[in-house]
Amino acid sequence: MLSFDDDAPAPALPPRAPRTPETIRAQVLGGILSREPVHDIDVEKEAAPDNFHRVRLEDKRVINGSADVNQLVPFKYRWAWEKYLAGCANHWMPQEINMQRDIELWKNPNGLTDDERLIVKRNLGFFVTADSLAANNIVLGTYRHISAPECRQYLLRQAFEEAIHTHAYQYIVESLGLDEGEIFNAYHEIKSIRDKDEFLIPFINTLTDPAFKTGTPEADQELLKSLIVFACIMEGLFFYVGFVQILAMGRQNKMTGSSEQYQYILRDESMHCNFGIDLINTIKLENPHLWTNEFKAEITELMRKGVELEYKYAEDTMPRGVLGLNAPMFKEYLRFIANRRCQQIGLDPIFDKADNPFPWMAEMIDLKKEKNFFETRVTEYQTGGALSWD
Ligand code: FE
Repeated sequence: MLSFDDDAPAPALPPRAPRTPETIRAQVLGGILSREPVHDIDVEKEAAPDNFHRVRLEDKRVINGSADVNQLVPFKYRWAWEKYLAGCANHWMPQEINMQRDIELWKNPNGLTDDERLIVKRNLGFFVTADSLAANNIVLGTYRHISAPECRQYLLRQAFEEAIHTHAYQYIVESLGLDEGEIFNAYHEIKSIRDKDEFLIPFINTLTDPAFKTGTPEADQELLKSLIVFACIMEGLFFYVGFVQILAMGRQNKMTGSSEQYQYILRDESMHCNFGIDLINTIKLENPHLWTNEFKAEITELMRKGVELEYKYAEDTMPRGVLGLNAPMFKEYLRFIANRRCQQIGLDPIFDKADNPFPWMAEMIDLKKEKNFFETRVTEYQTGGALSWD
Protein backbone atom coordinates (compact mmCIF):
# COMPACT_ATOMS: atom_id res chain seq x y z
CA MET A 1 0.00 0.00 0.00
CA LEU A 2 1.21 3.49 -0.74
CA SER A 3 2.17 5.71 2.13
CA PHE A 4 1.34 9.38 1.95
CA ASP A 5 3.92 10.39 4.49
CA ASP A 6 6.89 12.02 2.76
CA ASP A 7 9.25 10.65 5.41
CA ALA A 8 8.17 7.08 4.82
CA PRO A 9 10.27 4.85 2.59
CA ALA A 10 9.10 4.61 -0.99
CA PRO A 11 6.99 1.55 -1.76
CA ALA A 12 8.90 -1.38 -3.15
CA LEU A 13 8.48 -1.94 -6.85
CA PRO A 14 9.65 -4.84 -8.98
CA PRO A 15 13.13 -4.27 -10.43
CA ARG A 16 13.18 -2.72 -13.86
CA ALA A 17 15.67 -2.50 -16.67
CA PRO A 18 17.72 0.73 -16.63
CA ARG A 19 16.02 3.51 -18.55
CA THR A 20 17.76 5.80 -20.95
CA PRO A 21 16.24 8.08 -23.58
CA GLU A 22 17.34 5.50 -26.20
CA THR A 23 15.61 2.56 -24.51
CA ILE A 24 12.46 4.62 -23.93
CA ARG A 25 12.36 5.72 -27.53
CA ALA A 26 12.91 2.13 -28.68
CA GLN A 27 10.09 0.92 -26.47
CA VAL A 28 7.74 3.64 -27.64
CA LEU A 29 8.58 3.11 -31.29
CA GLY A 30 8.42 -0.64 -30.82
CA GLY A 31 4.77 -0.40 -29.93
CA ILE A 32 5.19 -1.45 -26.30
CA LEU A 33 3.15 1.59 -25.32
CA SER A 34 -0.30 1.46 -26.77
CA ARG A 35 -1.60 4.84 -25.72
CA GLU A 36 -0.75 8.41 -26.62
CA PRO A 37 1.42 10.44 -24.26
CA VAL A 38 -0.76 12.40 -21.88
CA HIS A 39 1.15 15.68 -22.15
CA ASP A 40 3.21 17.54 -24.63
CA ILE A 41 5.78 19.08 -22.29
CA ASP A 42 8.32 16.36 -22.80
CA VAL A 43 7.06 13.55 -24.94
CA GLU A 44 10.11 11.43 -24.35
CA LYS A 45 9.73 11.45 -20.58
CA GLU A 46 5.98 11.50 -20.32
CA ALA A 47 5.49 8.65 -22.73
CA ALA A 48 7.86 6.57 -20.66
CA PRO A 49 6.81 3.27 -19.10
CA ASP A 50 6.90 5.03 -15.71
CA ASN A 51 3.46 6.32 -16.57
CA PHE A 52 2.13 2.85 -15.88
CA HIS A 53 3.70 2.60 -12.43
CA ARG A 54 2.73 4.05 -9.15
CA VAL A 55 4.66 7.23 -8.53
CA ARG A 56 7.85 6.90 -6.53
CA LEU A 57 9.15 9.85 -4.53
CA GLU A 58 12.61 9.53 -6.00
CA ASP A 59 11.25 10.03 -9.52
CA LYS A 60 9.62 13.32 -8.62
CA ARG A 61 11.59 16.44 -9.50
CA VAL A 62 10.56 20.08 -9.72
CA ILE A 63 11.93 20.26 -13.26
CA ASN A 64 12.70 17.48 -15.70
CA GLY A 65 10.98 14.89 -13.50
CA SER A 66 10.15 11.43 -14.82
CA ALA A 67 7.12 10.67 -12.61
CA ASP A 68 3.56 10.89 -13.91
CA VAL A 69 2.49 14.54 -13.46
CA ASN A 70 -1.13 13.47 -12.96
CA GLN A 71 -0.46 11.65 -9.69
CA LEU A 72 -0.42 14.30 -7.00
CA VAL A 73 0.49 11.91 -4.22
CA PRO A 74 2.60 10.62 -2.56
CA PHE A 75 3.69 14.11 -1.56
CA LYS A 76 7.29 15.07 -1.96
CA TYR A 77 6.97 18.86 -2.03
CA ARG A 78 4.71 19.30 0.94
CA TRP A 79 5.59 23.02 1.21
CA ALA A 80 3.87 23.56 -2.16
CA TRP A 81 0.79 21.62 -1.08
CA GLU A 82 0.61 23.61 2.16
CA LYS A 83 0.79 26.85 0.23
CA TYR A 84 -2.01 25.64 -2.01
CA LEU A 85 -4.15 24.97 1.10
CA ALA A 86 -3.20 28.35 2.58
CA GLY A 87 -4.09 30.11 -0.67
CA CYS A 88 -7.51 28.47 -0.62
CA ALA A 89 -7.96 29.42 3.05
CA ASN A 90 -7.23 33.05 2.09
CA HIS A 91 -9.87 33.14 -0.65
CA TRP A 92 -11.56 36.52 -1.15
CA MET A 93 -13.39 38.41 -3.90
CA PRO A 94 -13.19 42.12 -4.77
CA GLN A 95 -16.96 42.71 -4.56
CA GLU A 96 -16.90 41.78 -0.87
CA ILE A 97 -15.19 45.09 -0.13
CA ASN A 98 -17.25 48.23 0.24
CA MET A 99 -16.03 50.97 -2.13
CA GLN A 100 -18.62 53.62 -1.18
CA ARG A 101 -16.28 55.86 0.83
CA ASP A 102 -13.67 55.77 -1.95
CA ILE A 103 -16.30 56.80 -4.50
CA GLU A 104 -17.41 59.74 -2.35
CA LEU A 105 -13.86 60.84 -1.68
CA TRP A 106 -12.83 60.56 -5.35
CA LYS A 107 -15.87 62.50 -6.58
CA ASN A 108 -15.38 65.26 -4.01
CA PRO A 109 -13.22 67.93 -5.76
CA ASN A 110 -11.55 68.70 -2.42
CA GLY A 111 -11.29 65.08 -1.35
CA LEU A 112 -7.75 64.35 -2.51
CA THR A 113 -4.80 66.42 -3.70
CA ASP A 114 -3.56 66.19 -7.29
CA ASP A 115 -0.50 64.29 -6.09
CA GLU A 116 -2.69 61.76 -4.30
CA ARG A 117 -4.82 61.30 -7.40
CA LEU A 118 -1.69 60.82 -9.49
CA ILE A 119 -0.56 58.05 -7.15
CA VAL A 120 -3.88 56.23 -7.48
CA LYS A 121 -3.95 56.49 -11.26
CA ARG A 122 -0.32 55.50 -11.82
CA ASN A 123 -0.72 52.68 -9.35
CA LEU A 124 -3.71 51.23 -11.13
CA GLY A 125 -1.97 51.89 -14.45
CA PHE A 126 0.82 49.55 -13.45
CA PHE A 127 -1.19 46.90 -11.65
CA VAL A 128 -4.13 46.43 -14.04
CA THR A 129 -1.80 44.88 -16.59
CA ALA A 130 0.96 43.55 -14.29
CA ASP A 131 -1.22 40.86 -12.78
CA SER A 132 -2.38 39.87 -16.24
CA LEU A 133 1.26 39.48 -17.28
CA ALA A 134 1.74 37.39 -14.14
CA ALA A 135 -1.21 35.15 -15.00
CA ASN A 136 -0.01 34.66 -18.59
CA ASN A 137 3.46 33.88 -17.34
CA ILE A 138 2.09 31.09 -15.17
CA VAL A 139 -0.52 29.61 -17.48
CA LEU A 140 1.29 29.91 -20.81
CA GLY A 141 4.83 29.54 -19.49
CA THR A 142 5.89 28.33 -16.07
CA TYR A 143 3.22 25.66 -15.61
CA ARG A 144 4.31 23.39 -18.43
CA HIS A 145 7.97 23.47 -17.38
CA ILE A 146 7.30 22.39 -13.80
CA SER A 147 7.06 18.61 -13.40
CA ALA A 148 6.08 18.38 -9.71
CA PRO A 149 2.28 18.03 -9.42
CA GLU A 150 2.25 19.64 -5.94
CA CYS A 151 3.84 22.76 -7.49
CA ARG A 152 1.45 22.65 -10.44
CA GLN A 153 -1.45 22.49 -8.00
CA TYR A 154 -0.22 25.69 -6.33
CA LEU A 155 0.33 27.35 -9.73
CA LEU A 156 -3.30 26.65 -10.64
CA ARG A 157 -4.40 28.38 -7.45
CA GLN A 158 -1.96 31.23 -8.03
CA ALA A 159 -3.23 31.76 -11.58
CA PHE A 160 -6.76 32.21 -10.24
CA GLU A 161 -5.48 34.65 -7.61
CA GLU A 162 -3.83 36.71 -10.37
CA ALA A 163 -7.24 36.81 -12.09
CA ILE A 164 -8.83 38.00 -8.82
CA HIS A 165 -6.22 40.76 -8.60
CA THR A 166 -6.88 41.94 -12.15
CA HIS A 167 -10.56 41.86 -11.21
CA ALA A 168 -9.86 43.94 -8.07
CA TYR A 169 -8.04 46.65 -10.04
CA GLN A 170 -10.78 46.68 -12.66
CA TYR A 171 -13.32 46.95 -9.85
CA ILE A 172 -11.54 50.01 -8.40
CA VAL A 173 -11.28 51.63 -11.88
CA GLU A 174 -14.99 51.02 -12.44
CA SER A 175 -16.00 52.17 -8.94
CA LEU A 176 -14.13 55.46 -9.25
CA GLY A 177 -15.34 56.01 -12.83
CA LEU A 178 -11.77 56.36 -14.14
CA ASP A 179 -10.96 56.51 -17.85
CA GLU A 180 -10.49 52.81 -18.63
CA GLY A 181 -8.51 53.46 -21.81
CA GLU A 182 -6.05 55.67 -19.94
CA ILE A 183 -5.53 53.25 -17.07
CA PHE A 184 -5.40 49.99 -19.00
CA ASN A 185 -3.08 51.43 -21.65
CA ALA A 186 -0.73 53.10 -19.18
CA TYR A 187 1.79 50.31 -19.59
CA HIS A 188 2.31 51.56 -23.12
CA GLU A 189 1.96 55.27 -22.46
CA ILE A 190 3.73 55.94 -19.15
CA LYS A 191 7.48 55.54 -19.41
CA SER A 192 8.18 54.44 -15.83
CA ILE A 193 5.55 51.71 -16.15
CA ARG A 194 6.56 50.72 -19.68
CA ASP A 195 10.21 50.39 -18.66
CA LYS A 196 9.34 47.94 -15.89
CA ASP A 197 7.22 45.83 -18.22
CA GLU A 198 9.80 45.93 -21.00
CA PHE A 199 12.35 44.62 -18.53
CA LEU A 200 10.05 41.70 -17.64
CA ILE A 201 8.70 40.72 -21.04
CA PRO A 202 11.82 38.95 -22.44
CA PHE A 203 11.80 36.65 -19.40
CA ILE A 204 8.11 35.91 -19.79
CA ASN A 205 8.65 35.33 -23.53
CA THR A 206 11.34 32.74 -22.78
CA LEU A 207 8.89 30.59 -20.85
CA THR A 208 5.92 31.10 -23.14
CA ASP A 209 7.90 30.34 -26.31
CA PRO A 210 6.42 27.04 -27.58
CA ALA A 211 9.89 25.98 -28.75
CA PHE A 212 11.46 26.43 -25.30
CA LYS A 213 12.19 23.16 -23.49
CA THR A 214 14.10 22.42 -20.34
CA GLY A 215 16.56 19.54 -20.07
CA THR A 216 19.92 21.09 -20.89
CA PRO A 217 21.96 23.12 -18.37
CA GLU A 218 21.58 26.22 -20.55
CA ALA A 219 17.80 25.89 -20.86
CA ASP A 220 17.43 25.05 -17.18
CA GLN A 221 19.38 28.18 -16.29
CA GLU A 222 17.10 30.20 -18.56
CA LEU A 223 14.10 28.80 -16.72
CA LEU A 224 15.64 29.45 -13.31
CA LYS A 225 16.52 33.00 -14.31
CA SER A 226 12.97 33.67 -15.47
CA LEU A 227 11.58 32.23 -12.23
CA ILE A 228 13.88 34.47 -10.20
CA VAL A 229 12.91 37.54 -12.22
CA PHE A 230 9.25 36.69 -11.81
CA ALA A 231 9.25 35.91 -8.06
CA CYS A 232 12.03 38.13 -6.72
CA ILE A 233 11.91 41.14 -9.04
CA MET A 234 8.37 41.30 -10.41
CA GLU A 235 6.25 40.03 -7.51
CA GLY A 236 8.95 40.59 -4.91
CA LEU A 237 10.12 44.11 -5.78
CA PHE A 238 8.11 45.82 -8.57
CA PHE A 239 4.89 45.55 -6.59
CA TYR A 240 6.19 47.12 -3.44
CA VAL A 241 6.30 50.87 -4.12
CA GLY A 242 2.69 50.61 -5.28
CA PHE A 243 1.62 48.58 -2.27
CA VAL A 244 3.23 50.99 0.20
CA GLN A 245 1.62 54.00 -1.49
CA ILE A 246 -1.94 52.70 -1.39
CA LEU A 247 -1.59 51.16 2.06
CA ALA A 248 -0.18 54.47 3.31
CA MET A 249 -3.37 56.13 2.05
CA GLY A 250 -5.47 53.61 3.95
CA ARG A 251 -3.51 54.29 7.12
CA GLN A 252 -4.52 57.95 6.73
CA ASN A 253 -8.13 56.98 6.31
CA LYS A 254 -8.18 57.76 2.59
CA MET A 255 -9.26 55.34 -0.15
CA THR A 256 -9.92 52.73 2.50
CA GLY A 257 -11.81 50.37 0.18
CA SER A 258 -8.97 50.39 -2.34
CA SER A 259 -6.48 49.94 0.49
CA GLU A 260 -8.37 46.96 1.75
CA GLN A 261 -8.35 45.44 -1.75
CA TYR A 262 -4.59 46.02 -1.87
CA GLN A 263 -4.08 44.48 1.53
CA TYR A 264 -5.75 41.27 0.41
CA ILE A 265 -3.69 41.37 -2.78
CA LEU A 266 -0.51 41.92 -0.79
CA ARG A 267 -1.28 38.93 1.37
CA ASP A 268 -1.65 36.77 -1.76
CA GLU A 269 1.44 38.24 -3.37
CA SER A 270 3.56 37.57 -0.29
CA MET A 271 2.58 33.94 -0.68
CA HIS A 272 3.32 33.97 -4.44
CA CYS A 273 6.73 35.41 -3.74
CA ASN A 274 7.41 32.80 -1.05
CA PHE A 275 6.27 29.98 -3.27
CA GLY A 276 8.54 31.26 -6.03
CA ILE A 277 11.48 31.41 -3.61
CA ASP A 278 10.84 27.86 -2.40
CA LEU A 279 10.55 26.73 -6.02
CA ILE A 280 13.84 28.43 -6.90
CA ASN A 281 15.65 27.01 -3.87
CA THR A 282 14.35 23.50 -4.54
CA ILE A 283 15.48 23.66 -8.17
CA LYS A 284 18.89 24.82 -6.90
CA LEU A 285 19.05 21.90 -4.45
CA GLU A 286 18.09 19.38 -7.10
CA ASN A 287 20.32 20.93 -9.78
CA PRO A 288 23.34 22.46 -8.02
CA HIS A 289 25.27 22.62 -11.31
CA LEU A 290 23.02 25.48 -12.45
CA TRP A 291 24.13 27.82 -9.66
CA THR A 292 27.46 28.93 -11.10
CA ASN A 293 29.36 32.08 -10.18
CA GLU A 294 28.58 33.58 -13.60
CA PHE A 295 24.92 32.85 -13.11
CA LYS A 296 24.90 34.40 -9.63
CA ALA A 297 26.61 37.52 -10.99
CA GLU A 298 24.00 37.78 -13.72
CA ILE A 299 21.14 37.53 -11.20
CA THR A 300 22.73 40.14 -8.94
CA GLU A 301 22.97 42.49 -11.91
CA LEU A 302 19.30 41.92 -12.78
CA MET A 303 18.35 42.65 -9.20
CA ARG A 304 20.31 45.90 -9.31
CA LYS A 305 18.54 46.87 -12.55
CA GLY A 306 15.18 46.05 -10.95
CA VAL A 307 15.91 48.40 -8.04
CA GLU A 308 16.83 51.16 -10.49
CA LEU A 309 13.61 50.75 -12.50
CA GLU A 310 11.41 50.61 -9.42
CA TYR A 311 13.09 53.70 -8.03
CA LYS A 312 12.38 55.59 -11.28
CA TYR A 313 8.77 54.52 -10.90
CA ALA A 314 8.77 55.90 -7.32
CA GLU A 315 10.13 59.25 -8.56
CA ASP A 316 7.59 59.40 -11.37
CA THR A 317 4.64 58.66 -9.10
CA MET A 318 5.83 60.99 -6.32
CA PRO A 319 7.36 64.07 -7.91
CA ARG A 320 6.89 65.75 -4.50
CA GLY A 321 6.51 64.39 -1.01
CA VAL A 322 3.00 63.08 -0.42
CA LEU A 323 1.26 61.12 2.36
CA GLY A 324 4.41 61.41 4.48
CA LEU A 325 6.26 59.50 1.75
CA ASN A 326 8.89 60.66 -0.68
CA ALA A 327 10.94 59.01 -3.40
CA PRO A 328 14.26 58.92 -1.46
CA MET A 329 12.61 56.88 1.30
CA PHE A 330 11.85 54.32 -1.38
CA LYS A 331 15.48 54.14 -2.44
CA GLU A 332 16.29 52.81 1.02
CA TYR A 333 13.24 50.56 1.07
CA LEU A 334 13.99 49.01 -2.32
CA ARG A 335 17.58 48.33 -1.27
CA PHE A 336 16.29 46.70 1.88
CA ILE A 337 13.91 44.49 -0.10
CA ALA A 338 16.50 43.64 -2.76
CA ASN A 339 18.95 42.54 -0.07
CA ARG A 340 16.26 40.39 1.46
CA ARG A 341 15.40 38.75 -1.87
CA CYS A 342 19.09 38.03 -2.47
CA GLN A 343 19.45 36.46 0.95
CA GLN A 344 16.31 34.37 0.41
CA ILE A 345 17.76 32.73 -2.69
CA GLY A 346 21.27 32.41 -1.31
CA LEU A 347 23.01 35.44 -2.84
CA ASP A 348 25.11 38.00 -0.99
CA PRO A 349 23.31 41.26 -0.22
CA ILE A 350 23.92 43.91 -2.87
CA PHE A 351 23.71 47.06 -0.79
CA ASP A 352 25.87 47.90 2.20
CA LYS A 353 23.42 49.43 4.53
CA ALA A 354 19.72 49.32 3.93
CA ASP A 355 17.12 49.66 6.64
CA ASN A 356 13.39 49.51 6.34
CA PRO A 357 11.90 53.03 6.49
CA PHE A 358 8.38 51.56 6.66
CA PRO A 359 8.36 49.34 9.73
CA TRP A 360 4.58 49.07 9.50
CA MET A 361 5.04 47.31 6.15
CA ALA A 362 7.48 44.91 7.76
CA GLU A 363 4.91 44.22 10.42
CA MET A 364 2.26 43.68 7.77
CA ILE A 365 4.23 41.46 5.41
CA ASP A 366 7.74 40.52 6.33
CA LEU A 367 7.30 39.30 9.85
CA LYS A 368 3.91 37.67 9.75
CA LYS A 369 3.37 36.34 6.27
CA GLU A 370 6.60 36.47 4.40
CA LYS A 371 8.17 33.33 5.67
CA ASN A 372 9.13 30.50 3.43
CA PHE A 373 9.99 26.87 3.81
CA PHE A 374 13.72 27.48 3.80
CA GLU A 375 13.51 30.01 6.62
CA THR A 376 10.74 28.73 8.82
CA ARG A 377 7.18 27.55 8.55
CA VAL A 378 4.34 29.98 8.19
CA THR A 379 2.15 29.58 11.21
CA GLU A 380 -0.44 32.24 10.58
CA TYR A 381 -3.06 32.05 7.87
CA GLN A 382 -6.25 34.03 7.85
CA THR A 383 -9.49 32.91 6.36
CA GLY A 384 -11.34 35.99 5.12
CA GLY A 385 -12.21 38.01 8.18
CA ALA A 386 -11.11 41.48 9.17
CA LEU A 387 -7.77 42.98 8.31
CA SER A 388 -5.91 45.15 10.76
CA TRP A 389 -4.23 48.42 9.76
CA ASP A 390 -1.77 48.39 12.64
FE1 FE B 1 1.21 37.10 -8.02
